[in-house]
This record gives sequence, C-alpha cells and structure tokens, in this order.
Amino acid sequence: MQEGTTLARHSKASGRRAFAAPPRTTGRSGAHRADCDRLPVTGRVAAAVVAVGTLTTGVGAAGGFGSDSGDTRFIPLGAGPELAAALVHGSAPRATPVATVHTIEPGLEAAKLMRSEALYARQHVDRAIKQASDGYTARQAELKRQQDEQAAKDAQAAADAQAVKDAQDAENARIATEQAAAAVAARPKAVKPAQGAFTSGFGARWGTTHYGVDIANAIGTPILSVQDGVVVEAGAASGFGLWVRVQHDDGTITIYGHVNEILVPQGRRVAAGDQIATMGNRGQSTGPHLHFEVWIGGSQKIDPIGWLGERGIAL
Ligand SMILES: [Zn+2]
Repeated sequence: MQEGTTLARHSKASGRRAFAAPPRTTGRSGAHRADCDRLPVTGRVAAAVVAVGTLTTGVGAAGGFGSDSGDTRFIPLGAGPELAAALVHGSAPRATPVATVHTIEPGLEAAKLMRSEALYARQHVDRAIKQASDGYTARQAELKRQQDEQAAKDAQAAADAQAVKDAQDAENARIATEQAAAAVAARPKAVKPAQGAFTSGFGARWGTTHYGVDIANAIGTPILSVQDGVVVEAGAASGFGLWVRVQHDDGTITIYGHVNEILVPQGRRVAAGDQIATMGNRGQSTGPHLHFEVWIGGSQKIDPIGWLGERGIAL
C-alpha cells in the first residue's frame, strides 16, 4: 500500500507538472505530439499501480470469511453495481476500499445466524452456570473454612479453660492435702474417752476385781476413741451389755462398756477423738456411766489412770 501510494503521488505530481506547462505551440510538432502522447500513458500506468495496490490491500485486509477484520461486506442480491459500490465505500472506516464482496441467500444466512446465535447463547448460559457453580463452590469452601476456624478457636478456648480448671484443681488438691496433713499434725495423740465424773477406779471392789475405771454422765454422752486404731469388736458383751474394743497401733486394746449406742462397725479405722459410741446403762450397771479398760499387748489389763496419765490425760 505504501508503495502504491507513493507511486500514485508521483504520478499525480507528474500530471500536474504536465498540465502546468501547456503544450508548446511553437517548435517542433513532434515535441508537442510526444508530450500529448506521453501524458495519458503516464496516467494509465499510475492508475494501474493504484489498482494493484488497492487489490492487494483489499485481499489482505479481507483476511478470511467470517474474520473480525470488518472489511467483508455482504451485499444483498439484486443490488446494482452502484448500490454495491455505495455500500462498500459509504461506511468504510478505512480509506482502503473493500475488494471482496460476498453474495448470500437471506434465508440460509438467517438460519446460519440463528444457529450461531443459539450456539452463542448456549455458550453464554454454560459459562454463566459454570461461574455460578464456581461461585457456590468457593462460598461453600469459605464457609467451611470459617466453620473450621471457629471450631479450632472453640477447641482452643475449651482446652485453655480445661487447663485453668486443672491448675485450680491441682492447687485445691495441694491445699487440701496440706490442710489434712496440718490437721493430722495438730490432732491430739490421745483424748479423754468421755467427759464426766470419775466414780470408780481400778482394783478390788465388792469382793471382786474392777479391771477398769468408771466415768459417769448422762445417757448419750459421746464416747471417743482415746487413740488412733481399728475397731476390733463392736457388739454385745457379757456384763457390759454392749461394748466396743479398739486396738491401737502398738497392740494395746482399749475397752468401752455399758454403751447405749454403737456408732462404728467392726473393722473401722478410727482416730484419736473420733466418737465411737454413746454413754449408756446396759449390762451390770448401777447408773449411766462408761466402763473403760486398757489391755497392754491386747490382753494384760492395767490401771488406766497411769496409762492415760503417761499420755497427758487426767481423769
Ligand atoms: Zn466399771
């Protein structure tokens, strides 16, 4: 195209120069004739060059049928050469004229267009469906991610709360252990078996031997284990009505007789000061009191006064 344009301009310049210099009326007639003969030839050559350039450009610009070049125009059947030319040149956005002209059947072309439109619409719908589907999938994934994130946060919060609770429980257990140990340490090693009046001591009495001491008080007065130990017997006993026997850690057994109510079962571990029974008047008794004995080694009955006194207990 560039080449053709250049040639065209050159030829036009030559033409103007030729017309600006009128044919000489004087001089050789051959010169006049030569000028007149040469000018039309030059013009025809230039026009041919322009046509070739135009044709080349048109074919190249047309590209192929159905391309996006926009240079292909469809001329209705029956249009005359003038109308076709007007349609081709009238709306051409480019200076270059279109050289390729297609003639078509309107019905066939309409069918093609409809099929094309249908195909385009289906592709559009398919694309829209895919976009919607992808969007839904993305939203679901995001929702799942948010749910997982929240679940992880909840689990972490629960774990943190549990850790705090565990630490509190451990601290409480430690405090409880310390308090229990302190209570044990503060607990007396020996206690008086019952509050009341000392009414009878160990030894000979009324023609027989009294193997214990008597402490008189109201029925129901608490009776306590004098030391830590294990209940080795709790029940009926000849002469004592009901009794409780506790064996201490050194093997010594203490006896609690005439009790009104037994509060601990045989085999129960008791501590010094634990209530094991209530004061009563059962068996061979002249009034509500506790009959208390001490058996060294589990069998040797001794005066409880001295034994209690060695442990800081006075009757
Ligand atoms: Zn007695």
